[in-house]
Amino acid sequence: MNKLSFHHKVLISLCLAFGVGLWANFSLDESTQPPVWIGWLIQTCEFIGKLFLNGLKMVVIPLVLTSVICGVSQISGDRDFGRLGIKTLLIYSLTGLLAVTTGLLCVNLLQPGLVDPEIKEAILANQQSTSLPSLDRAIETANNGWSNLAQILHRMVPPNLFSAAVEGQLLGLICFGLLFGFFLGRIKPELRNGQLNFWQGFQEIILKITNFILGFAPVGIFGLVTPTLAKSGLDAFWLMGGFALTVFLALGIHGLLVLPILLKLLGRIRFLDHYRAMTPALLTAFSTASSSATLPVTMECTNKRVGVSSKISSFTLPLGATLNMDGTALFECIVVIFLAQFFGIEMGWVTQFSVVLLALLTSVGVAGIPSASLVAILVILQAVGFDDHAIATGVGMIYVVDRILDMSRTMINVLGDSCAAAIIGKSEGESGYYNKAHSS
Ligand code: ASP
Repeated sequence: MNKLSFHHKVLISLCLAFGVGLWANFSLDESTQPPVWIGWLIQTCEFIGKLFLNGLKMVVIPLVLTSVICGVSQISGDRDFGRLGIKTLLIYSLTGLLAVTTGLLCVNLLQPGLVDPEIKEAILANQQSTSLPSLDRAIETANNGWSNLAQILHRMVPPNLFSAAVEGQLLGLICFGLLFGFFLGRIKPELRNGQLNFWQGFQEIILKITNFILGFAPVGIFGLVTPTLAKSGLDAFWLMGGFALTVFLALGIHGLLVLPILLKLLGRIRFLDHYRAMTPALLTAFSTASSSATLPVTMECTNKRVGVSSKISSFTLPLGATLNMDGTALFECIVVIFLAQFFGIEMGWVTQFSVVLLALLTSVGVAGIPSASLVAILVILQAVGFDDHAIATGVGMIYVVDRILDMSRTMINVLGDSCAAAIIGKSEGESGYYNKAHSS
């Protein structure tokens, strides 16, 4: 087992989790009295999974702060800072726009919302059996990260840095880190050196802790994925098969066609090399459904396995984890048009274009936590004129199948950020490395 590389161990753990989780779900369906071992299994896995997730979340705040400060302080002049900022925003806008366009094309071509009346009835019945308190909880959780567009700007300048940290408001911390790092590079050398040593030492320690926690990823991922599958299985998923297939297809096109083309054209990078190097981060994103919790792994892989310098990755990745969500934007667009098809609401190209814009804008405000995009979807549905009943029913329907789709779109969110970092690294003259020595 020791000879296996890290990402192989994680992959095996994920396959095992699928097997055990689905088996438990099947046994639950078969028996009228749930067997005790399933309760025991779910509880143990949830305990382990939460411990691992907490560990990852524990390092996010210090890692973001130290990385942004150390990274930005290495950017030598104002012009470099501006150039990197503009490149980052341009590439994030480009990948986001391509993602939503892919979603729009797929949902219009496949029309998953036009279903048989019988299946429609079954979907609505299935939605009604969803416990609303859990939907409310998801919306409440997501609300912590999302309110409205003006508030995104407010969050960039938090009145209290410590409460921003306590609430996990990464955007405010990133902005503070950017300012701190920028001005750190502009103080007297005797003061600057002491400060730099302190922050670099701090960052090294946090990276070592991150590595230590990552060592538990194979077990942690098993703990996170097994209960999800044991509880929900894939039944609801089959019922909404057309919709799920459209989402997978669009995510697949973005991840396996659009991003590889961008990597090749803009960075001269072979996508297979890049994807292999990013595997641990992609699998962690899939298991946690949270790009914020995955950020430590994303940074580790981008630095050590892709070879992007910390100067660039510490600038682009924390911003990407909060602002750039290709998978989420694509998903939001598909959901809204799917629901319009399902409820027979006419949607012309002009309205579809506003859905594209809203999906792009709201994905910027979505927090990197599970199911966060459901709230952004509520906002778009309201904006394009769905009535309250259609909104409540529609979001309920999506919620039933959301988890597995969330895991997949989070993977694409993380992939998009890492591709942007690699392309920017190349454009800044970095060679990067994808050698085997770093891939175990
Ligand atoms: N779970 C996603 C993420 O963390 C956000 C979402 O689409 O709900 O990136």
